[in-house]
Amino acid sequence: MSGVLPAQTPKEARPILRERGQREVFCGLTGIVWLHRKMQDAFFLVVGSRTCAHLLQSAAGVMIFAEPRFATAIIEERDLAGMADCHEELERVVERLLARRPEIRTLFLVGSCPSEVIKLDLAKAAQQLGQRHLPQTRVLSYSGSGIETTFTQGEDACLTALVPEMPELEAQSASRLLVVGALPDIVEDQFQRLFDELGFENVGFLPARAARDLPPIGAGTKILLAQPFLTETARALEGRGGEVIHAPFPFGAEGTAAWLHAAARVFGIDEMHVNRVIAPGRERAKRAIAHQREKLEGKRITFLPDSQLEIPLARFLATELGMIPVEVGTPYLNKQQLACELEQLPDTVRLSEGQHVDAQLDRVREDRPDLTVCGLGLANPLESEGLSTKWSIELVFSPIHGFDQAGDLAELFARPLRRRDVVRV
Ligand code: SF4
Repeated sequence: MSGVLPAQTPKEARPILRERGQREVFCGLTGIVWLHRKMQDAFFLVVGSRTCAHLLQSAAGVMIFAEPRFATAIIEERDLAGMADCHEELERVVERLLARRPEIRTLFLVGSCPSEVIKLDLAKAAQQLGQRHLPQTRVLSYSGSGIETTFTQGEDACLTALVPEMPELEAQSASRLLVVGALPDIVEDQFQRLFDELGFENVGFLPARAARDLPPIGAGTKILLAQPFLTETARALEGRGGEVIHAPFPFGAEGTAAWLHAAARVFGIDEMHVNRVIAPGRERAKRAIAHQREKLEGKRITFLPDSQLEIPLARFLATELGMIPVEVGTPYLNKQQLACELEQLPDTVRLSEGQHVDAQLDRVREDRPDLTVCGLGLANPLESEGLSTKWSIELVFSPIHGFDQAGDLAELFARPLRRRDVVRV
């Protein structure tokens, strides 16, 4: 009898541990911290509690500009008890704000847990206020509540709210590349220069620096995602005729090269030309990464679910720095969007989706990885047990995309290990 070889498990079919339980993640309000820096004519008005105001204030740090571009309209006890008409009060707050700050071109009303609990209809409020204030100010709404969103989903919800406002791409226009996901201006400029050198003629970014300057969308728009947590935004853009380019995310020398190659391929740009244009940046990135390799190679790393950056970052660390991902947890796993990443992860990695914080911490204690990437609240308890940690929020707040940030990205992981060695000496 001839032997039958066991069928290989395709990588996309590998088992995923799905967990539901207590979560330890920031809510979607956190996205305002980087979104308000990016969209310089927008204002974010959170309709929430004092807790929401404190979260924003502490996450955004010390205000360095005179007029902040976010605020919280506090829902008081009497509002929660249904003793006041919140819609009227919200209207008054918005009128006062727009009278005092005429430079605001897009106002986001951002929902929170309390506004959801009392069923404040922010979409309707935004529509009514928008009718009054257009064309001067566009008023939109989205939810950043901890009931509906985690951490980076706030950006997804915000960008989704912008999609219906994007102008229609003219039918006869040439194909257009749309890069989606908030990038620091310096990174956006680097990518723009590369796209220019590669020969792309029409490149737009969502969000744009001025929320008012929305790029057009329509059939012929190719969408290149810069962030892995934009599932709803991508769906909304597809609904407007856009087509998502399947690519890994631009982290590290090879991730960035593959991201650019994927876009160039769709636009029929010659591969040799792409290689020539990206060679200097790719080499710079490789050299910068090599400095950290000695510290990171062979080290075991676990990601607890937090920002949805976990899978692309684990791929970068495994393929470009020789780290060994033990468990990679993510709040939500969009297999289609992450297909190019998943296929590069080693077979041995344990993938988990969702969160059951106690069970996950038990596994971390059993695995004892060299480094655990987790939220702020979990870092201290793990450190006190002798486990090195990295705050995932730093990965979201730091410029980490592209060739010129690849060394800094690797450094973010090397630093806690170096600190551990110093402490142990
Ligand atoms: S939206 Fe909810 S989870 Fe976020 S700060 Fe406000 S109350 Fe807390």
